[in-house]
Amino acid sequence: MKLPQTGGCQCGKVRYEITAAPRAVYTCHCTACQHWSGSAFSIVVLVDDAAFRLSGAEPRPIRRIADSGRVVGRLVCPECGSWLCNATGDGGRRVRAGTLDDVSWVRPTTHFWIRSKQPWVILPEGGETFETEPDG
Ligand SMILES: [Zn+2]
Ligand SMILES: [Zn+2]
Repeated sequence: MKLPQTGGCQCGKVRYEITAAPRAVYTCHCTACQHWSGSAFSIVVLVDDAAFRLSGAEPRPIRRIADSGRVVGRLVCPECGSWLCNATGDGGRRVRAGTLDDVSWVRPTTHFWIRSKQPWVILPEGGETFETEPDG
C-alpha cells in the first residue's frame, strides 16, 4: 500500500488521511455491522489514532451502548450520512474500508463474528477466524 492513504464520505464534505500502515485489516460479521451497513459484513482498516487525520466538515458522532456495555461511537458525515469510522477507545480507529479512495490494496486477513456470518459468504483461505471478537 502507498502512504498516505486518503478517503472520505460519499458527498466529499468529510475527508481523511491515513499516514501509517494499518494495525490490521479485518471483516466483522456481527449482526450490528449487518444492520448498520445493510450488507453482510463490514470491512475494517484498523489504524492508530495518531496516523489518522480528518479534514473538511466535522463528522457527527452517533453513540450506542454495545452488548459488552461499552459505549461505541460511529462518525458519520453530517450531510450524506456515510459511516466513516469508529474510535476503538484504545488509541485506534476502525476505518470503514469502503470509504477509501483506493481499495485495491485492501485484503482482510482476520474475520470476526463468524458465528453470525451469512451462510453464503465464503471466507478466503489462510485467514484467521473468530467465533466472536477477542478482547482488545
Ligand atoms: Zn458526506
Ligand atoms: Zn461488527
